[in-house]
Amino acid sequence: MVFKGIKTRVKNLLSRSASQDSDLNGPAVITRDNHPVSRKLISNNALKVLYRLESAGFQAYLVGGCIRDVLLDHKPKDFDIATNAHPEQIHKLFRNSRLIGRRFKLVHVHFGREIIEVATFRAGHQSEQKSNKSATNDSGMLVRDNVYGTVEEDASRRDFTANALYYSISDFSIHDYGQGMKDIQAKTLRMIGDPRVRYQEDPVRMLRAVRFAAKLGFSIEEKTKEPIADMASLLANIPSARLFDEVLKLFQSGHAENSFNLLREHGLFKFLFPETDELLNQDDDGYIERLIQATCRNTDIRIKSNKPVTPIFLFASFLWPKVVQHWQEQKQFMPPIPALTKASHLALDSQVKATAIPRRFSTAIKEIWDLQTRLERRNGRKAYQLAEHPRFRAAYDFVLLREQAGEDLKGLGTWWTDFQNSDDHLKQKMVSRANNQDRNKRSSGKNRNGQSRNRKPRKPKTDT
Ligand code: ATP
Ligand code: MG
Repeated sequence: MVFKGIKTRVKNLLSRSASQDSDLNGPAVITRDNHPVSRKLISNNALKVLYRLESAGFQAYLVGGCIRDVLLDHKPKDFDIATNAHPEQIHKLFRNSRLIGRRFKLVHVHFGREIIEVATFRAGHQSEQKSNKSATNDSGMLVRDNVYGTVEEDASRRDFTANALYYSISDFSIHDYGQGMKDIQAKTLRMIGDPRVRYQEDPVRMLRAVRFAAKLGFSIEEKTKEPIADMASLLANIPSARLFDEVLKLFQSGHAENSFNLLREHGLFKFLFPETDELLNQDDDGYIERLIQATCRNTDIRIKSNKPVTPIFLFASFLWPKVVQHWQEQKQFMPPIPALTKASHLALDSQVKATAIPRRFSTAIKEIWDLQTRLERRNGRKAYQLAEHPRFRAAYDFVLLREQAGEDLKGLGTWWTDFQNSDDHLKQKMVSRANNQDRNKRSSGKNRNGQSRNRKPRKPKTDT
């Protein structure tokens, strides 16, 4: 669907509400005939929840990313609702709902696979402090924020103006508390309130700024952008599990390449992948940058064509340069295979200090790395066995990426592409050629890794 006319409609609106766009005191109300958000573009289940809340006498609004995305002609990921009903009251209204969250209770209303999240209006940070129910730690970070508030207060605690538009089910108008409409039209990401204070309260907002800029193609407004470089180090205080979730949102939402470039530009990448960032800074021939860009592009393309993506591949690729560095060092002390295992552990142990990596993923990441050497051994039955390995596809895709980034793997990727596309007869021919090459290498005194063999000297025959 294309919202022809959104620009003119929003422009008309802006000239009418110009007096109201500068602060958060009262909302600019954009009536239904002045905005393009039609109920046809809203999930039926979200509409059901809104109507039921309203007929039970509560205020109910659609808010956040869904309204922003509809205005931008994007398909919303999910529909979030804000209301003055308290969680228990919401829960009572919907049999198909569950109360979730410990710190701040929310209600999830389930409709098959679709979940509509319903949250009670929360007070802004300042009124929370007054009531003693919110707290900040020594560095100004919000560690508790569990006070209910009014819709105005709810708007002031949101992050960006574009995320603070409220669609009212009572008259289908949009309530704009912070020039969100104007900023959406100008493709500007503007923090609500004082950006320094807001980053201090929650440093993840810096990552969110980059994520929305990458996803929406918005530019980050000067005052919102300016403190990021200085304040980036606050991300070191964020729990690693939350940063893992943010990595997934940054790199698995179809805008990985833009996200990577912006994270680097704003000095944020190093708080997500510290060792990779360090290597990128010494990356003279640009190999690491090309590898990461190729990974991001590949992920973006898969998402656009509705193919599944997994964090396994992403982490395997981003951390590979560090694994290789450790591997070179470890090979001085032990044979290549255990050296690679050791290198994998070292790289992962260090990464989990920044972002958590759930065990089900880290095991698979190590398998992809391990297969990078095993895919070189194609003799005997090995090629057939490797092609059946559950991680073969990811490992093979990663070989192709390494080659795409400029690594010379002596035609390994092409060999495996041909092998998979061949019939049994051809496969056998390919394997026996690999056998011969292997034999030639051995007779030249080199082992499979091209290293000299350290044969034990034969015991001299002794006469008995
Ligand atoms: P997406 O399409 O990526 O889900 P979204 O805007 O819906 O984008 P969510 O993370 O789902 O983002 O959050 C929903 C809304 O909650 C946001 O639009 C914003 O108003 C508010 N919000 C979320 N996280 C924060 C935060 N850290 N600080 C302030 N407001 C936040
Ligand atoms: Mg959302």
